[in-house]
Amino acid sequence: MNVYDSARMGDVLAPLGFVPTEDAGAADMVILNTCHIREKAAEKLYSELGRFRRLKDARISAGKRTLIAVAGCVAQAEGEEIMKRAPHVDIVLGPQTYHRLPELVARAERRIAANDGASPRGILDIEFPAESKFDHLPDVASASAAAFLTIQEGCDKFCTFCVVPYTRGAEYSRPVADVLAEARHLAEAGAREVTLLGQNVNAYRGAGADAAGGLGGLIRALADIDGLDRIRYTTSHPIDMDDELIAAHGDVRQLMPFLHLPVQSGSDAILARMNRRHGIDDYRKIVDRLFAARADLKLSTDFIVGFPGESDKDFEATLALASEIGFVQVYSFKYSPRPGTPGAAMGDQVPDAVKAGRLQALQDVLNASQSEFNRACEGRIMPVLFDRAGRKAGQLVGRSPYMQPVHVMAPEGLMGTIAEVEITEAHANSLGGNLASPKMDNDGDNNRRISA
Ligand code: SAH
Ligand code: SF4
Repeated sequence: MNVYDSARMGDVLAPLGFVPTEDAGAADMVILNTCHIREKAAEKLYSELGRFRRLKDARISAGKRTLIAVAGCVAQAEGEEIMKRAPHVDIVLGPQTYHRLPELVARAERRIAANDGASPRGILDIEFPAESKFDHLPDVASASAAAFLTIQEGCDKFCTFCVVPYTRGAEYSRPVADVLAEARHLAEAGAREVTLLGQNVNAYRGAGADAAGGLGGLIRALADIDGLDRIRYTTSHPIDMDDELIAAHGDVRQLMPFLHLPVQSGSDAILARMNRRHGIDDYRKIVDRLFAARADLKLSTDFIVGFPGESDKDFEATLALASEIGFVQVYSFKYSPRPGTPGAAMGDQVPDAVKAGRLQALQDVLNASQSEFNRACEGRIMPVLFDRAGRKAGQLVGRSPYMQPVHVMAPEGLMGTIAEVEITEAHANSLGGNLASPKMDNDGDNNRRISA
C-alpha cells in the first residue's frame, strides 16, 4: 500500500517539476510516508525527523531549501503532535489527502517566502474528505511492468489488534468503471501485471458491479483487458472469500496461483479474542475449496504471536496449523499493542521475552516450508515477469507466478516481458535460473495454453 501511495505522490508532484531521487541530502523535498500497523512507528518517525532536521539545516546554511512532509497513517494519527515536536516539518498530510500535495507545497513555499520559515507552524491536512481522493489523481506517468492499483480503502472489521479502521476510516470501494479505466491505462503504459490493493480487498463492492458483483466479477472484467497477463490481489480477509471469487481462481487464467490469506492464529480462542469472525475449521474449509478450484494454488499468510491471553497451548495450535497448511511464504509478527485498540487494553498481555521465543519457533517452521517449496521449484520451467535490473551486469530480476524473485542472466530487451525460465538454484528467499526456450503459458501450467 505504501509503495503504491509513494508512487502516486510522485505522480501528483511531477507537474511541479519534482522527480524522485535516492539522495535525501540533495532533495528539495523529503516525504516520509509512514505506516502505523506494527512496531514503534511513531518513535521511528521522530528519530528520522531528527536526521532530516540536520539535513535541512545544512541545506539552509548552503543557501538552499528542503521541504519536509510527513504522510500516511502516522501523520493521520499524530498530526498535531508532529507539528509540536518537530516544528521543522512543513507539511503533515493524512492518507486521504495526498492528491492535495501540489496545493500544500505551494502554500508551504508561500509561507516560507513570506517569513523565511520563521513561523513555527507547518501545514496540517489530515481530514477525511467526503469526496474521493481517487477522483483527483492524475493519470499514472509510466507504469512499471508489475503495477499496483488501489480498488478499496479502509476497513469496518475492527480486529482488536488493528489500527486500520481508526486511521484509514470506513470501507470504500472505487466504482468498477474507474478501476477498469485505470487498469486499461496501466496496460497501455506497459504494465503486464496488476496487483489490486485494499486493506480488505476481497470485501470489494464497487458501484457498477453486476449481480454477481464483488471482486470475482471485477477480476473477470479485468481479464478481458489486452496485455494484462497477470492479476493478483491483496490483502484478503478469510470471511470475504465468496463463491464467485473462489470460482474465479479456477476459471481466470490471468489470476496467479498464489494468494495471501492472513490467518493470524491457529487457536479458535485467540481468533475470537481478535474478533476475526471465523474459526480454524472455517479457514481449513476455505482453503480446501480454493485448492479444489485451483490445484496448483499456493498460499501465504500473516501470523501474530503473543496476542493477549495466548497460552502455550494456543501457540502450539498456531505451530500445528503452520505445518498443516504448508504456507510457501509467511509474515509473522510479535503482537504490538496499538494505542486506542481493544487489544491494547486487554489485561493479560504476554511478556516480550515469551513473544520473542514464540516468534523464533514459528519462523523456524515457516522458513522450512518456504525453503522446501523453493527447492521443489528446481528443475521446473516457470514464466517470469522481469521488472528490474539485477545487481550483476547483464542480470534481470523478475517474479515467478508465486512471487518468488528469480535472478536470470538475460538481455535487457526482456525487461517488462514474461519469459520462460528453467529454475536451477533455490535459495531461502529467491530462485536463480536460465532462459528456457520451450513455449509455456504464463501461469506455469501447460494445460492452460494461451491461444496465440
Ligand atoms: N487486512 C488484513 C491485514 C492488514 S494489517 C487482514 O485482515 O488480515 C497487515 C498485518 O499486520 C496483519 O495481517 C497482522 O498480521 C499484522 N498486524 C496488524 N496489527 C498488528 C499489531 N498490532 N501487532 C502485530 N501485528 C499486527
Ligand atoms: Fe485490520 Fe485487516 Fe482486521 Fe481490518 S480486517 S481490522 S485491516 S486486520
